[in-house]
Amino acid sequence: CSELEDDGLPDNLEKIESCETDFAEEFTENDLSVVATLEKTLESPLSSFRPGYLWVSDLTRQNWCEQQLYYSFTVPGLVEEKPVMTEGTNLHLERVTSNEDIWGIKVLNLINSLQGFLNGGTVAREIPIFGAPFNEGVFIVGLIDELRFDPEMYLMELWELKTRKRKSMPSKAQCVQHRLQVMLYKKLFDDLVKGNLAKETVAKHLRLDLKKTFGDDVVKQVTINFLTSKDLSELMDVLFSKVQCLTCIQEIGVEYVHQDSKGTIGMCRESYSDEELEKLYKEYLKFWRGERCSTGVDIEDAWKCQSCDFADICDWRKKKAEEYSKKNIHPCD
Ligand code: SF4
Repeated sequence: CSELEDDGLPDNLEKIESCETDFAEEFTENDLSVVATLEKTLESPLSSFRPGYLWVSDLTRQNWCEQQLYYSFTVPGLVEEKPVMTEGTNLHLERVTSNEDIWGIKVLNLINSLQGFLNGGTVAREIPIFGAPFNEGVFIVGLIDELRFDPEMYLMELWELKTRKRKSMPSKAQCVQHRLQVMLYKKLFDDLVKGNLAKETVAKHLRLDLKKTFGDDVVKQVTINFLTSKDLSELMDVLFSKVQCLTCIQEIGVEYVHQDSKGTIGMCRESYSDEELEKLYKEYLKFWRGERCSTGVDIEDAWKCQSCDFADICDWRKKKAEEYSKKNIHPCD
């Protein structure tokens, strides 16, 4: 308020009151909604955009371009829908309403996949997976495409199937993204096998009441599967007892399939590094916790910007272009 002067406190108080009144009158509903949006963006991305848990796909998209991921949450009109896990699961969630029932069905689907292996099965598809890797206090949820189990060799393999329009292998950047995805799945699965996930952790992150009795539809599904669990606490005990009869994942890989011919284009076995994953994961979480700003692609990955929906508004891209023009270097050099 520019009218305020140094002299005379009562005078200034009057002016402050009058300024506040003018300010309030000038504030429209639209302004207030802008302020609300600004306040929301000042919260951490985790609490603003993914309260409760992250999806594995959030982290793989972050690997492609963190700035793009951030814009996908914040730029109106281009905001992506939240991923869903219901597709492909063998039990339906249509009539299941409480969070405890929804997670009960997910846990039951996971138990079914594992039971298949314990009964002599060798392949399970679309397996829900979750956990809180590296004791970072962040919960992650995903859906494994395929687990292959060799009971004689006691060997568990994880395969991610990627459909491609073109009959060619993906770019190096896409392969890096896919490797991160399968490494995360392995980490989550192995943590379950090793008993590194407590049901209290699941309950805390997902705000679930472990002792809440399942609804009739879930009880029916539990009974069909020859189980007697009446709540998540009991069902998770069943999960832990079954998964700990299995083995950690020894091999991870990605299979690329041609969309039209359905033929395999190629299969890439990927290496797993716990240290590498932990380092990357912790760096990514700094963004999600609001400990650092989002960053865009490095200059050698500037080609990603050409097919980016946010290229016209991207501050990171503008900033990098200015930096390189000052140095008199063309970004493509
Ligand atoms: Fe990321 Fe480039 Fe898109 Fe910006 S323009 S969001 S840096 S891909």
